[in-house]
Amino acid sequence: MSRPHCCRKINHLPETDYFKPRAIPLAKLEEVVVALDELEAIRLADLEGLYHEAAAEKMGLSRQTFGRIIEAARRKIADCLVNGKALKIEGGNVAMPSQRMFKCDACGHEWPEPFGTGRPQKCPSCASDKIHRADADEDGTGRMRRQRARCCRRARD
Ligand SMILES: [Zn+2]
Repeated sequence: MSRPHCCRKINHLPETDYFKPRAIPLAKLEEVVVALDELEAIRLADLEGLYHEAAAEKMGLSRQTFGRIIEAARRKIADCLVNGKALKIEGGNVAMPSQRMFKCDACGHEWPEPFGTGRPQKCPSCASDKIHRADADEDGTGRMRRQRARCCRRARD
């Protein structure tokens, strides 16, 4: 079983990507790197409280793989807290939709919103507030697939 660990789906980017103990110069700190997929596992299981099975499905992983990822992530975070190390969040073979699609129930208009801009209030076409999220990886726009292709190419380099 040696499928490449490519492109775990994540739906969240952290607000900040670096944590360090106070009053210790960076040069003297040991740094632990937590990958974006590891952070996503922590977010889904520990913050949102999802069962591993549901969280694994969201990330497009088997439950076993998810279990390994979250175990590694928890150990790294524990290492930081217990041993006073800096924590850096970066990397990981992840695919993330670059935008979200929304659809208006009133007029059928569909439009993209970039990530991180919050939920739109109303349809830009007819101003109805009866709108819902139409996920980019489900509506056939190919967004997620393009992201994935780019990520895989980088991983092989
Ligand atoms: Zn509309």
